Amino acid sequence: MKCIVVTGGVLSGLGKGITSSSIGCVLKARGLNVTAMKIDPYLNFDAGTLNPFEHGEVFVLDDGSEADLDLGNYERFLDVSLTSEHLMTTGKIYGSVIEKEREGNFLGKTVQIIPHITNEIKSKISKVGMKPGTDLLMVELGGTVGDIESAPFLEAMRQMHSEMGHENFLFVHTTLVPSLGAIKEQKTKPTQHSVRELRAMGVQPDVIVARCERPLDDSARKKIALFCDVPLDAVISAPDAKSIYQVPIFLEEQGLTDYLLERMKFDVPDDGLADWSKFLKKVMNPKNEVKILLVGKYMDQYDSYMSHYEALTHAGAELNARVVPLRIEAEDIGKEGCGDLLRQADGILIPGGFGSRGANGKVEAIRYARENGVPFLGVCLGFQLAVVEFARNALAFHDANSTEFDSHTSHPVVDLLPEQKDVTKMGATMRLGAQDIIVEKGSIANKLYGATTISERHRHRYEVNPHYIDVIQDKGLKFTGRSPDGNKMEIAELEGHPFFVGSQFHPEFKSRPKKPAPLHYGLVRAALEHSKGKKVR
Ligand code: GLN
Repeated sequence: MKCIVVTGGVLSGLGKGITSSSIGCVLKARGLNVTAMKIDPYLNFDAGTLNPFEHGEVFVLDDGSEADLDLGNYERFLDVSLTSEHLMTTGKIYGSVIEKEREGNFLGKTVQIIPHITNEIKSKISKVGMKPGTDLLMVELGGTVGDIESAPFLEAMRQMHSEMGHENFLFVHTTLVPSLGAIKEQKTKPTQHSVRELRAMGVQPDVIVARCERPLDDSARKKIALFCDVPLDAVISAPDAKSIYQVPIFLEEQGLTDYLLERMKFDVPDDGLADWSKFLKKVMNPKNEVKILLVGKYMDQYDSYMSHYEALTHAGAELNARVVPLRIEAEDIGKEGCGDLLRQADGILIPGGFGSRGANGKVEAIRYARENGVPFLGVCLGFQLAVVEFARNALAFHDANSTEFDSHTSHPVVDLLPEQKDVTKMGATMRLGAQDIIVEKGSIANKLYGATTISERHRHRYEVNPHYIDVIQDKGLKFTGRSPDGNKMEIAELEGHPFFVGSQFHPEFKSRPKKPAPLHYGLVRAALEHSKGKKVR
């Protein structure tokens, strides 16, 4: 087993996830079979109950795990599908140690952080790293070195390093190099301090990745090498990037791939990043531009809808278009200035969500898209609200609603899934993960997916109420995708509209560079057509 651990110092939000993904990406490009896992030292069992405002989106895996958004970065950069084993939290580790204690597995022993918690951490990391066919495991340690809650994890990794040897277990430390004063001198002291903090835990970094506004200058690089005791070519500059997909190229250009391969004694041919560069070229040099308006609840946070933004980027790259995301808080629909944004939009995307705040604003945005022929994609809650909007305004069921928002509505067109009726606990109890969907031949979805059976990821408690299917379809909103038993509505398409599609599932989670989510691709393609039409008009 070989492993690279990515830690972070100075402050959070330095892009450890992108760093881990990018290192994995450049090594994968040399033919290694790379996988990745995230350690989140918080006490929550998983990310399922976390607020997207604090932690960004909840990323859903095939097996239904509700994970940290960094798993999305790993899947996109490494083109892999991960499982619950790839997300470790303090809650999970302590949970399983306490369970073992209750079963009597440690009979007679005092159960302690060292060795019992650290052993549990080590065994769970090894289980992932030792999977047959795996050449390298990237482990990202969330939080900042020095946090109390990350200490047991760092200790476990210190032990793994000494057990496995420095050829097999490397530490990459990401830090911040701020530029200060009139001449914007690059300051290395925070990096020195954070390495000292790391050393206090018994860990010496092998590589330092320095986040900086502009590329690291020679004197800063030399200082970091000298004071932090790493070779000069292991001090890597990570300047702010226009696109996250540039980061692997930055790492490759500075020789990090060769350095790591040499250190870990991997003997692989130099295949370079030709494929990745091709994709990046499309991202960076688009021929057209298209504006997609996202209507949601946490719009000033990129992280809250990260997978949608990435899926739009992937789709744009394939269509030679830059997708410019416009954003509006659903509650602001109907307020001053909102009309401008709606008119500017070449397409409208309503992502998933929970809770009634902004629901009516989203319904209004959907109405605008439906009535004005503006391409529209509604995902999960966006799909459910498209059905609500249609029921209210096309079927004249004026108080139609989802029972999530109005339990007394006379037209509950969206209602709790039958299997959810007795659920009381919040964690991991939704309809989650990959489920098959049967897609109607000849439908828009069928053409976009090129298949009649597809598998996509889910995360919901409510569904289109089966009692309303016939009346809704008779008026032109067709359900072109259903669960294999035919009972759950999965895709809706509006007849006579250039592109009005909703999905109960989340296509954004499986979007990858060079393989955009089909429905996002469809939206961007339709939006391009729409914008051409606007110019002619
Ligand atoms: N709140 C809705 C439900 O639970 C939609 C969920 C979502 O958008 N992820 O069904």
